[in-house]
Amino acid sequence: MTGLDIPRRKTIAPGQLLIDGHWRDGASGETTTTSDPTTEEVITTIAKASAEEAGEAVEAARRAFEDGPWGRMHHEERAKILFRVADLLDERADDFAVREAMDMGMPYHDFRDTIMPFCSGLFRFHGALAMSALDGSYRTSYERDIRILTRREPLGVVAAITPFNFPLTLSVSKIAPALAAGNTIVHKPASDTPLTALALGRVMLDAGLPDGAYNLVTGGGGTIGDALVRDPRIDKIAFTGSTAVGQGIMRSGAETMKHLTMELGGKSPNIIFADADIDAAVQAAFWGIFWNKGEVCVAGSRLLVERTCYDEVVEKLSRLAEKAVLGDPLDPATQVGPIASRAEYDKVLGYVEQGKQTARLTAGGGTRRINGTGLFIEPTVFADATNDIAISREEIFGPVLPVIPFDDEEDAIRIAIDTPYGLASGIQTGDLGRGLRLADRIKAGTVWLNTWHKYHPNAPFGGYKMSGYGREQGREAWESYTQYKSIWANLN
Ligand code: NAP
Repeated sequence: MTGLDIPRRKTIAPGQLLIDGHWRDGASGETTTTSDPTTEEVITTIAKASAEEAGEAVEAARRAFEDGPWGRMHHEERAKILFRVADLLDERADDFAVREAMDMGMPYHDFRDTIMPFCSGLFRFHGALAMSALDGSYRTSYERDIRILTRREPLGVVAAITPFNFPLTLSVSKIAPALAAGNTIVHKPASDTPLTALALGRVMLDAGLPDGAYNLVTGGGGTIGDALVRDPRIDKIAFTGSTAVGQGIMRSGAETMKHLTMELGGKSPNIIFADADIDAAVQAAFWGIFWNKGEVCVAGSRLLVERTCYDEVVEKLSRLAEKAVLGDPLDPATQVGPIASRAEYDKVLGYVEQGKQTARLTAGGGTRRINGTGLFIEPTVFADATNDIAISREEIFGPVLPVIPFDDEEDAIRIAIDTPYGLASGIQTGDLGRGLRLADRIKAGTVWLNTWHKYHPNAPFGGYKMSGYGREQGREAWESYTQYKSIWANLN
């Protein structure tokens, strides 16, 4: 990147609702605001939908599914539109990256170089799946004149309810497969980070998505999120967020028998054995927890280290953490940006204080201001942690890492799986056989061997245990937005 390319903050127009292909303000005129965690200034106002307006969005989506072009469109036509969405995302990558940096505090380059290609790739991957014919035809051995036709059909209307972290990625990982399978969407993004959803809405219209196929409603989870979950005209809730809110959605959704995908919290163990390339393992541990300032569901948020290399790992990791460059996410030199909101910042600092009482602080532990502002928390490492203290058991969702020693393989696996969560995990070892052996025993949807934070549209992603169920990415995601129908035909 040259100096000329350095991104700048921009003025963002007030956010409106997108219902049935038209942007409009909320009927009540009520708005909320979204703020920049670097400058702590308001970026823009965001329309607040009422439960009734959420219902109008559902009605538009229902029409687009039942009568409108999207639900009835040939899957090859749908695929063409999804490929256009992918191209527009790539063309507008700078705008999306600036929005995510201003809204969520993610370094611009991380977003531009890794997240954006992944998001456009998801639309291409699912567009390609939409092109593939998965319907089947069978015969029985006992009635020769019977033919069975199996059809994969869309579910109907999907409500995508998405979290404040990785707002674009976690929206696209629902919206792309759902649209590809022929469903229509009502999207409710997190109140703290709605800016990329608003840009995505524009992309959808510019790509030629028919009216009502994608609707965007902004406003509180407890009001419009809850209204969507209870609405009988919605067939599936695709949710990413906290385990507690997910459990509430499961309870409320039971009334109308919702299909559900639940992508919830995590407390993922990263295991370093003494036979690993220690410098590479320390790098994996550093990025595993501190990428996007730890506001990552699959962060390597418990580090398990074999005793024989424990002191070396703690020392090297702590020095790396101290050298990390905190700063404005729009500054190309920045490695770690600000925490996304004041509420999250206060929560993470509460855990830092608990850590100081229950383990040994070896790096960080404080806050920073950059040019006098910003919700920055230093990358923080706690050594001599045990697996039963709060910072080892609870999801902190910030740049805070407890480091727990272990004796041998059995001890490592015992500690690793002693958690209610099961989202991700990692094993750093020079013995790939051992890595694969332990990968079989870890109860988590993702295992990274000698690496961390690798993703691909083709690789299913999701949780075990309290981290949820269902998978995003891969053919499995697409399938979860479909249902089978068997048609029996008597040829006589
Ligand atoms: P959250 O508080 O659970 O909110 C998630 C979404 O649910 C937001 O859009 C929120 O709206 C909405 N919501 C809140 N209450 C609701 C209700 N009663 N009914 C329907 N919707 C409701 O989660 P968050 O703090 O935004 O995100 C962080 C959490 O997400 C962490 O636990 C993290 O591990 C998890 N996460 C999981 C994954 C994964 O793939 N497994 C990925 C990323 C994050 P408002 O914003 O308006 O409150």
